[in-house]
Amino acid sequence: MKIKLKDTIIVNVGKDHGRQGVVAKILPQDNTVVIEGLNQYKKHVKPSQGRKGEIVTISRPLDVSKIALVCPKCKQVTRVGYRFVEGKKLRVCRKCNTDI
Ligand SMILES: [Zn+2]
Repeated sequence: MKIKLKDTIIVNVGKDHGRQGVVAKILPQDNTVVIEGLNQYKKHVKPSQGRKGEIVTISRPLDVSKIALVCPKCKQVTRVGYRFVEGKKLRVCRKCNTDI
């Protein structure tokens, strides 16, 4: 998974195309991420015992292929590269070569 929590990303498809958001949740098994405040849908919750019916807004997960990382340093949409330092894998921005 190239995306990590709290990453700033930009959405490439759908109704939030071109909008930026912050990764709030990662679902590696589905290859999807939840972006705070994006890809929101209204969900109708039916009334049940002791609870009123209501409409809640939820952020649906987006496929990682539909988002792109925005480099926190150079603010450009970038691809993630890797470099190894003392056995550790570090993510680097392909545009400005800064560790992310
Ligand atoms: Zn960069």
